[in-house]
Amino acid sequence: MNMEIITNLAFVVSAVLFILGLKKLGSPATARQGNRLSSIGMLIAVIAGLLHQQIVTYEWIIAGMIIGGIIGTLAARLIQMTSMPEMVALFNGFGGIASLLVGWAALYGADVSTFSVVTIFLAMLIGGVTFSGSLIAYGKLSEVIGSKAVVFTGQRFVNGLLLLAIVVTGIMFCMEPAADSPLLFTIIGLALLLGVMAVIPIGGADMPVVIALLNSYSGIAACAAGFAIDNNILIVAGSLVGASGIILTNIMCKAMNRSLSNVLFSGFGAVKQGKSITGEVKPINVQDAYYILEAASNVAFVPGYGMAVAQAQHVVRELGKILEANGCEVCFAVHPVAGRMPGHMNVLLAEADVPYEQLVEMDDINPRISNVDVAIVIGANDVVNPGARDDKDSPIYGMPIINVDHARTVFVLKRSMASGFSGVDNPLFFKENTRMLFGDAKESIAGVIAEFS
Ligand code: NDP
Repeated sequence: MNMEIITNLAFVVSAVLFILGLKKLGSPATARQGNRLSSIGMLIAVIAGLLHQQIVTYEWIIAGMIIGGIIGTLAARLIQMTSMPEMVALFNGFGGIASLLVGWAALYGADVSTFSVVTIFLAMLIGGVTFSGSLIAYGKLSEVIGSKAVVFTGQRFVNGLLLLAIVVTGIMFCMEPAADSPLLFTIIGLALLLGVMAVIPIGGADMPVVIALLNSYSGIAACAAGFAIDNNILIVAGSLVGASGIILTNIMCKAMNRSLSNVLFSGFGAVKQGKSITGEVKPINVQDAYYILEAASNVAFVPGYGMAVAQAQHVVRELGKILEANGCEVCFAVHPVAGRMPGHMNVLLAEADVPYEQLVEMDDINPRISNVDVAIVIGANDVVNPGARDDKDSPIYGMPIINVDHARTVFVLKRSMASGFSGVDNPLFFKENTRMLFGDAKESIAGVIAEFS
């Protein structure tokens, strides 16, 4: 068997492991195993790739792996859990620029066919858009630049012109490709500009959706780069990332009841408020919260972004155990867009060893939430905002929510009356059955635990 066949067989094994890994990532119970399978697939792909006869220099590859490995390890260790979406945005961007560079490098090969030139152009275009778009997404999320949507008159016309210029330059470049052609630099410049123009009109609140979309773009760019250098596993892996990114984007849009075009072009961010809210806010202290919980026989925790900020997952788990020992039925109801990235709450709860069987999805808890004695909202706001269900004027009207206001009693743990990510006020805080437990969520829960002991 020659080396080419062995390499391709190894790539087939990798591709199968990637697909199995993705399948297992679909459930929290098998996600770790899925991650492991995919990593083994990647290891096999890298080893098989390194055995390829076209490799020119191992020294540069090793130097790149060492430098990249150190940066990656440090970034993963130092980054705060709340900054994870920014980090994902940056990594998507690096994926994009890598594809752009691979495409460019492929121009130096001998006898580049017309098909290869087209794929090189696509790798550079999509890679460039992904890179600059991701940098803007990073800047908006980390608030290095303003997170508001930047919208101006004639924006779509300018973007249309930009696209036209890219198509014309692309065709001219494909007719006369060269690694040092001025057309190539023009394409790179236009692609970077398009990435910026595509992301600036999107408000910070929609950035996680954009990041999922950019993730998909980075996959498509890698796929194009795979065609450019004739590497089968890059084509497969790029397609998988491209497809899963677009599926994730779709899931997130659905969970917010918005269309992708509404996310990309509506400039959501400078939001108007819905109906003005009237009513009385009823604060509660930890002792009174304890008395109510002590008597409860069914409690649902509803975590949100504030739980991540407070890093309250461990004390929440501890309180859950105490309640169970007290004969209470406990569950953790997770909204699909709670937090700042898909699966954000699941990751935190898994870190605190919350059993998978206690995790309940929105569609499962809502039909039986009226039987819940106490719904404890931990730093969630938009995902439990009844205005999204009842107030047609609310900017988030139509977004499915966890109906905590239908539980017998609701505790809302947050520091102030401030609104959530969408900037929309929350009538939940004024409901008859709501009690506000003001303060940092971790401290409040620790206070309740202290009362139990
Ligand atoms: P929100 O952003 O709506 O609310 C979080 C709340 O946490 C705030 O109101 C804040 O109130 C409170 N908080 C912050 N720090 C603390 C703390 N230390 N202790 C206690 N409370 C705290 O979060 P949700 O999870 O409810 O909603 C997620 C939002 O993100 C939705 O609008 C969703 O559409 C959006 N989004 C999410 C995506 C995802 O993939 N998860 C994707 C796209 C959008 P206070 O300051 O008073 O403490």
